[in-house]
Amino acid sequence: MNKTVKIAIQKSGRLSEDSLNLFKECGIKVEIGKGRLRSVSSNFPAEFLFLRDDDIPGYVEDGVADLGIVGENVLVESGKKVDVVKALGFSKCRLSIAVSRERDFVLPEDLNGKSIATSYPRILGDYLDKHGITAHIHEISGSVEIAPSIGLADAICDIVSSGSTLLSNGLKELESIFRSEAVLIANPGLDPDKQTILDKLLFRIASVQTAKDHKYVLLNAPNDKLDAITAILSGMKSPTVMPLAIEGWSSVHSVLKESDFWEKIESLKDAGAQGILVIPIEKMVL
Ligand code: ATP
Ligand code: ZN
Repeated sequence: MNKTVKIAIQKSGRLSEDSLNLFKECGIKVEIGKGRLRSVSSNFPAEFLFLRDDDIPGYVEDGVADLGIVGENVLVESGKKVDVVKALGFSKCRLSIAVSRERDFVLPEDLNGKSIATSYPRILGDYLDKHGITAHIHEISGSVEIAPSIGLADAICDIVSSGSTLLSNGLKELESIFRSEAVLIANPGLDPDKQTILDKLLFRIASVQTAKDHKYVLLNAPNDKLDAITAILSGMKSPTVMPLAIEGWSSVHSVLKESDFWEKIESLKDAGAQGILVIPIEKMVL
């Protein structure tokens, strides 16, 4: 029997949709169904296990799963020993310390001797140690944000993305102590066959991620402006230049990085480019 890798992903939650989407963009079919706990891909040597996110680091450490997708917050809090093989750029959030809006509070000193409610005792404990603060960590598993108003704690340390949950509970964010995004993790002892499958997956993920960071650009330019225009488009190798049916004009094709896209488009216009078309790239293999 040919080898497959077992990949643990979150069954339902904030990581699920983007995780499934990633495999889809990599051309890997994953059948999902209500109540389904596992699924074998029909076109890639992988079996998917649908789990609670908190269980994923442990399963990958134990080798029950070979790979997994989990938030760095859950991974670091778990303390499990796995390899982080790729940052995936989704499910971005931060762990922050917050207190009641009415309180004057200076971090980290004012935490001394106080109680802090959190579901992340390890990450919070590291922060307190680093700053030489002694505080009581009150570990609770959910609804952390109501702890100050019911008198359970002086402060909280919890996940924040937009801050609206804090606001509606009368809290203010004081400091972010940990930044997180989804990561692909692997068991450190993968055998060579499984490592080969992981490399194949990583190659596909890189092509998808690179494509997202770039745009394909087509434009028309009078031939006497070509030097200035191609100098701006110093993208992958040199741009492609093809004559248009109209005498004295050319079509120029190139790839631009998303990060300096607008700046370059403005320079291209100033340099005499016309009819600029911008097209998303689906996959990009460098
Ligand atoms: P499970 O039922 O699997 O235990 P959960 O309720 O613990 O799920 P979710 O709320 O689905 O977890 O969040 C999963 C992960 O998504 C978090 O651990 C974090 O990494 C990330 N995350 C949490 N909140 C947000 C947010 N508001 N925006 C983006 N990512 C977030
Ligand atoms: Zn969870």
